[in-house]
Amino acid sequence: MAVLHILTYPDPRLREKARPVDAVDAALAQLADDMLQTMYAAKGIGLAATQVGVPKRLVVMDLSPQHDQPQVLINPRIIASDGAQVCEEGCLSVPEVFEEVERAQRVTLAYVDLSGEAQRVEADGLLAVCVQHEIDHLDGKLFVDYLSRLKQDRLRKKADKRLRDDTRL
Ligand code: ZN
Repeated sequence: MAVLHILTYPDPRLREKARPVDAVDAALAQLADDMLQTMYAAKGIGLAATQVGVPKRLVVMDLSPQHDQPQVLINPRIIASDGAQVCEEGCLSVPEVFEEVERAQRVTLAYVDLSGEAQRVEADGLLAVCVQHEIDHLDGKLFVDYLSRLKQDRLRKKADKRLRDDTRL
């Protein structure tokens, strides 16, 4: 297992639309393992392959308090949703930013698991938020895209400043 580098906003690779996974094989299982390790190390509850620079439709999550219930979602799709909820979200790719975002309250999720079996689950509450947030990543979308123009401008300026600071000699 390995801890991978997590891309941060405004890295253009976070805007790539991920391609469907066509083979559930040992290499994919290894990537999922590495992503889980990376997510746990960063103290996150979800991570999309897009965030580690791999444009594949693969998501890992673990919402359990003991961090011992890893979930791997291959080619996840929301096939139905209803209701609305507002939740404060953060993202491993947008460090130190927490903002309220409105999402569906309930979703029906279809995905393939690591043994190649098609699965379908109902999710609500935080699990539904997490699923919607992670699938957005696979479509090149970030939670900050839902914020007002003013807030987005402020974030962009902060990120630009961070980039300048990082490259200062
Ligand atoms: Zn995220």
